[in-house]
Amino acid sequence: MNLKSGWNRRSFLSTLGAATGSLFANPKLHAAKSKASAHGVDGSPIVPITSGLGSTGDIYAELGVKPLVNIVGTVTVIGGSVMKPEVMELIRRGNEHFVLIDELEIAAGKFIAKLCKSPEGYTGLVTGGAAAAMVVGYAAMMTEDLEPRMKQVPDTTGFPRTEVIIQKSHRYNFDHQIRQTGAKLIEVETREEMIAAINPKTLAIHFTNIQSNMGKVSGPETVAIAKAHNIYTFNDASADVPPKERLWEYPAVGFDMVTFSGGKDICGPQASGILIGKEELIRWSLLNMSPQEDRIGRCCKVGKETIFGLLKALELFVNQDYDAVLRMYDARAQVITDAVKKFGVTALPRKFDPQALGNVTPHYSWQIDQTKLKITAQEVMQQLADTPKLGIGSFGAGAAGMRGRNPDAPQHPEGEAPRPRRNRPAPDPTTFGFAVWQIKDGEDKFIADRLVEIFKAAPKA
Ligand SMILES: *Cc1c(COP(=O)(O)O)cnc(C)c1O
Repeated sequence: MNLKSGWNRRSFLSTLGAATGSLFANPKLHAAKSKASAHGVDGSPIVPITSGLGSTGDIYAELGVKPLVNIVGTVTVIGGSVMKPEVMELIRRGNEHFVLIDELEIAAGKFIAKLCKSPEGYTGLVTGGAAAAMVVGYAAMMTEDLEPRMKQVPDTTGFPRTEVIIQKSHRYNFDHQIRQTGAKLIEVETREEMIAAINPKTLAIHFTNIQSNMGKVSGPETVAIAKAHNIYTFNDASADVPPKERLWEYPAVGFDMVTFSGGKDICGPQASGILIGKEELIRWSLLNMSPQEDRIGRCCKVGKETIFGLLKALELFVNQDYDAVLRMYDARAQVITDAVKKFGVTALPRKFDPQALGNVTPHYSWQIDQTKLKITAQEVMQQLADTPKLGIGSFGAGAAGMRGRNPDAPQHPEGEAPRPRRNRPAPDPTTFGFAVWQIKDGEDKFIADRLVEIFKAAPKA
């Protein structure tokens, strides 16, 4: 596989093979894990568990599930990201009291707006993920604060405005969350078509930030068109921080609502998200969401512990020194580079585009000298994934999530046929690589040791 060029998390997932294991079986790793650091998990037990689930110290093995070392990125199918000890502590403390959830949400929104330097008249909302933010956000635009409409969604019969304009190139798996509110997508390609599509039923223009380079209408142009016609704009920037500045830059462009995932590199609770938007729209969003009942967003519940955890994660994220974080990633890659160089495997220059649209993170790769070793990059990645007890990577067919049966699909002997992807370069057999941003303390050494094993066992050329 060629991870050197054209790398993205989805193509990585679709090319990487089987895997799995137990981190806790490695005493060295376990020791490293327990010291708190920028990306450590809080391994300190609140209370010792002496019986039942959790009593062996390896909860994954107790359920017969193999954990993974994440060299893929902040992908939900393998758990997204891990929370820092401070976040875990606030989750614990958030559990100490009962509280009116609406009151807590409104206060949390103000905290988010201040932290994220939101424009005057904007506030925040903690949602059950960025996808949930889209559901409650689009419901809010259609229902406003009208009780009968909120009860009626997703049946939008009689609603004055239900059409959402989207650039064809911005269609994606998450527009399901717009459609599930009963809103109707109207596809356009050009700026002229966008303007021509606007009519009295038009509610909003949706902007898919991570695909904005594929579209013909930019964010600022979209906002200008919408403002001129008095319709809303929603920017899905779920995976697009870091850089943290986007938390304030995108709302400042004038989007009425912007969402960011809480469970990606913000490293908040996995099922959390942030919605930043105009105060009125955020109030209507909360009206369409849990804890309220008989609402489309009742299934988008966030608990008090999630709210506190997300706020702490966001605070840590906004205040972190990203240069120091980058140096930490470089140091991890260096551990691997140092370990494999004796096999003639050399590090290629780090790939990092700080202005990339999403999943902004350095990517490291290494080149195998084919005159020394007879092993392909693909085989190396497969063997990493197949590491006993603790898989390094992701897990083949399941890496894209489970799929239902498609009665119309042609039969494929291996299960699901690989989906063709545009612009995928032919795999380079000499170069393997991955992202180190979601690996935890000690796992750089674990990966390095495994690579040494793999290269030691590889046939000499
Ligand atoms: C991850 C992602 C989402 C969903 O975010 P969650 O917080 O997992 O609900 C939506 N849109 C895009 C572009 C994403 O990458």
